[in-house]
Amino acid sequence: METAAMNFQPSWSQALVAKTAREFASRVLAPAAAARDRHGNFPEAEMRELGDLGLLGVCVPEDHGGAAAGPVALALAVREIARADASVAVTMAVTNMVAEALSRFGSVDVRARLLPRLCSGQEVSGSFSLSEPQAGSDAGALATTASAVEGGYRLRGSKLWVTSGDQSGVIVVMARHNVPEASTDARIARRISAFVVERGAPGLTVGRPEDKMGQRGSSTVPLTLDDVFVPESAVLGQPGQGFKVALTALDGGRVNVAAQAVGIAQAAFEAACTYARQRQQFGRPLAEFQAVQMMLADSATALDAAWLLVMRAACAKERGVPFTASAAMAKLFASEKAVEICDRAVQIFGGYGYTREFAVERNLRDVRVTTIYEGTSQIQRLVIAKHVLAEIAHA
Ligand SMILES: Cc1cc2nc3c(=O)[nH]c(=O)nc-3n(C[C@H](O)[C@H](O)[C@H](O)COP(=O)(O)OP(=O)(O)OC[C@H]3O[C@@H](n4cnc5c(N)ncnc54)[C@H](O)[C@@H]3O)c2cc1C
Repeated sequence: METAAMNFQPSWSQALVAKTAREFASRVLAPAAAARDRHGNFPEAEMRELGDLGLLGVCVPEDHGGAAAGPVALALAVREIARADASVAVTMAVTNMVAEALSRFGSVDVRARLLPRLCSGQEVSGSFSLSEPQAGSDAGALATTASAVEGGYRLRGSKLWVTSGDQSGVIVVMARHNVPEASTDARIARRISAFVVERGAPGLTVGRPEDKMGQRGSSTVPLTLDDVFVPESAVLGQPGQGFKVALTALDGGRVNVAAQAVGIAQAAFEAACTYARQRQQFGRPLAEFQAVQMMLADSATALDAAWLLVMRAACAKERGVPFTASAAMAKLFASEKAVEICDRAVQIFGGYGYTREFAVERNLRDVRVTTIYEGTSQIQRLVIAKHVLAEIAHA
């Protein structure tokens, strides 16, 4: 029996990572979060500091420049950062996802040259480019091509929604091999490869940043690849294994989107509790009205349940057991409940919650995308259903 799996206490090193993130979040991030949101400022200096603190390669081995602290520590850190600023949290989480993919699947050259730069914050962020104008939930329908040429490949196509794509020194781009076999069935996933494209590659252009509802301090851009050359050493894993690389990265990424959702919701919940104790109506604090107490109780319960799912998925990843369904459940539940919790927080603030004077307004805008990116809630349900049906068939 695996008793250790039932221990919800973080280890000494996991607690240290969480404490480091919490202190940085409250000292550096929280005071400027509203301004970053308002002016759409990318957190460049803050990302470099996260690199100094070892929070950009949390799951990367030390000999590749990472902190080797593991997925539980990363989820704890993402939650703390998101509690202060969701824009920084998403930038940090995607960078960690890219660093881990490079460490796991990268060639000797990619690991030796790029990973230390990414983990240390020298490269301010990493990006992961799967989505395209016609390939969102149906990512396997991507149309960007990779044509073999002497010494490597030439990439051609249009990518969309690339988080930090205008800032990153390292972009993982998924493209389909442009070979005759693939043309007979352009949707064969095994013909997709993951390529590392570096900043400034000739033929790589960045489009206009999206004007988003929330997470406005993070940048989200389209990319155009016009015969961008990458050497053979830029392929992650074996050629044709790109979909596996992408899905492996997304499994881990979903745990961190869930942690991010919990962090944003926790900030909104804490603000709602404080406000309910201070604000008086009918001669009493709001917190004395049972209707308000019910809202707070529902939020507290959902927050705890969401976090337990996040920890279960992170622990499974840490133990090296399959966690695709656990990650999908954590992402589905945490993101949907976090939206409800932030919405309830705005309700408790009344009219004031609808103004920019209070952070709950930003929390609600920031949290909304967590049910959309790295696979929508509907796609998480498909993943979960496939898994449970297969389990029952096996039983
Ligand atoms: C701020 C932001 C940042 C992002 N960052 C990145 C990034 O860094 N890298 C990257 O590659 N992508 C990124 N994305 C893209 C994101 O992953 C996609 O938006 C998401 O996967 C959904 O794709 P779509 O927007 O094309 O929606 P669609 O796939 O068109 O879906 C529209 C609606 O239809 C539903 N739907 C679709 N198919 C089904 C189905 N089979 N069954 C039931 N319902 C279905 C969806 O759930 C959704 O509600 C980002 C998106 C945003 C908004």
